[in-house]
Amino acid sequence: MKKFTKVLSVVLAVVLTASMLVACGSANEAGGAASGTIVFATNPEFPPFEYITTNGVLGEYDGIDMAIAKKIGEDNGAEIKMESMEFDSLLVALQNGQIDAVIAGMTVTDERKEAVDFTTPYYTATQVMIVKEDSAIATAADMADKKIAVVQGYTGETCVSELGYPYEAFKKGTECVMELVNGKCDVVVIDSATAAKYVADNAGIKIVEDNSAFASEEYAIAVAKGNTELLNKLNASIEKLLADGTISTLAVQYSEADAE
Ligand code: GLN
Repeated sequence: MKKFTKVLSVVLAVVLTASMLVACGSANEAGGAASGTIVFATNPEFPPFEYITTNGVLGEYDGIDMAIAKKIGEDNGAEIKMESMEFDSLLVALQNGQIDAVIAGMTVTDERKEAVDFTTPYYTATQVMIVKEDSAIATAADMADKKIAVVQGYTGETCVSELGYPYEAFKKGTECVMELVNGKCDVVVIDSATAAKYVADNAGIKIVEDNSAFASEEYAIAVAKGNTELLNKLNASIEKLLADGTISTLAVQYSEADAE
């Protein structure tokens, strides 16, 4: 009997998931830009680009990306919906048609370009190392025999694995920083602006850059492959917000402000 109940619940879970996918699958047609709503998704664990707060620019969401999404809505007379998911799930949700666009401090990479289309980039970043203030780590090569922490699925993980060093991957940047602060790892590799936030918020840690080891990265919004209608709208807005200085003003404001 117990076994039967277990099987039944598994079957039910599968059916429920399938129907959810069908229901969500209509985001592009029913909730797409054409009908006046753009359904975005992000992973709000990436200050100063996206984080949760009590009174954010988009409901509970705040950050540079959230302010950009809001401006895109205003520019297109569209309502902006923001959904929260794991960073690793964002592109899958886009491919499933569950959402219209991803704005998540996401670096344009060749691998991701195979799965989705990217807008004009709106921000340039790089990977950096966060270490204890008294650390001897001065270059990426110094990490070779050290304990390295990265966030799973971030470009920081790709960089460290390409360097060929062993590392431990965590779900969130804050977890990596806690490991470092508690002496459980020696170095965290993560995006520059986010690293600056963590260093400002935690005593005793500092940033080490190595521009010869870490190339510059560009953040862009992702849409489903072939969704040129939305891509063109987003590009028009982004180009406008870049040209009139809105995005650089937002970047400065949010980088100086307290994230939480
Ligand atoms: N820029 C990094 C990447 O694209 C991290 C992005 C993020 O955490 N939101 O992988």
